[in-house]
Amino acid sequence: MKTLSKCLRLPVWRPKSVRTEGEVSKPSEMQPTHSAAGWRRAVSYVIWPGLLATALTLTGLGMQTEYPVLVFNAVYVCFALTVGLFERLLPHERTWLENDHQTLANLSHTLLNKGLVQVAVVVSAAVGAAAVVDPSEASYAIWPESWPLWAQAVLGLVVAEFGLYWAHRLAHEIPFLWRFHAVHHSVTRLWFINTGRFHFVDTFWSILLSQPLLYVLGAPLDVFLWVSATTAFIGILTHCNIETRTGYLDFIFNTPQLHRWHHSMRLEEGNRNYGENLMLWDRLFGTYYDDPSRRPPARIGIHEPMPARFRDQLVYPFRSPPAEESSPAE
Ligand SMILES: [Zn+2]
Ligand SMILES: [Zn+2]
Repeated sequence: MKTLSKCLRLPVWRPKSVRTEGEVSKPSEMQPTHSAAGWRRAVSYVIWPGLLATALTLTGLGMQTEYPVLVFNAVYVCFALTVGLFERLLPHERTWLENDHQTLANLSHTLLNKGLVQVAVVVSAAVGAAAVVDPSEASYAIWPESWPLWAQAVLGLVVAEFGLYWAHRLAHEIPFLWRFHAVHHSVTRLWFINTGRFHFVDTFWSILLSQPLLYVLGAPLDVFLWVSATTAFIGILTHCNIETRTGYLDFIFNTPQLHRWHHSMRLEEGNRNYGENLMLWDRLFGTYYDDPSRRPPARIGIHEPMPARFRDQLVYPFRSPPAEESSPAE
């Protein structure tokens, strides 16, 4: 990729020095190698909202065609590859570009989650729940279907986030659940490839606490699709290793800046920012964290050892923990 940068005549931005954990270093202290600092700065401002808006617009256009799922998958792949490209051109942490030999495990978890859990849950929920409960007929179906679809999608996000927030928070605070969630936190670098690195039980737990809320309220299928699509795109952005300046967006959305704190090894930083897309519930329940005066730590991970191989990671939560092991809640 170094050659790609040169071929494209793109500027390379290098930090003044390698930062260590806890060292104060603002993005403005970065020293560009030449006059391209303005280019880098501009991109760091627009990359997060620009990519998300583009992906959602294309997804919306795709939903008006005969092949909405196909279009979404195509947009998703292009989106992920674009994020991967910008991670090389505009990295947040250069050390996170180094191979951690977890790519295969990351992709295996992603495929297992997408393929097994989500399909199984969505199909069973669509068939089973629809057969048992017809939201449009149910007296408790209070979903405002007369609202514009965008407003329903926003409401769907807020409702789903409530379940996602508590699923995530409990996964940090209950030691048994933490052992599954530790698979996600065991990474030592953040990049788009480990977005889907969750133990499938962890994923199932999140779906269990979030999706039924939408069903019970009678949300239509389009709302589920928009919530899923938005979560997919924001999830990749959240874990990206791109230098981003999200400013006031940090008050509303789960941005890379906020999620990097969540991957901190320090419990006072890591046990914060549980929102998956929105920070609303973190703000209401007092778990929002940010410190604009310094960068989140480059050294991330967990304190307990995690097996390197995918299949060992699947078994890991079921093994009895060592006596000295501590959950992040402790
Ligand atoms: Zn977490
Ligand atoms: Zn994460």
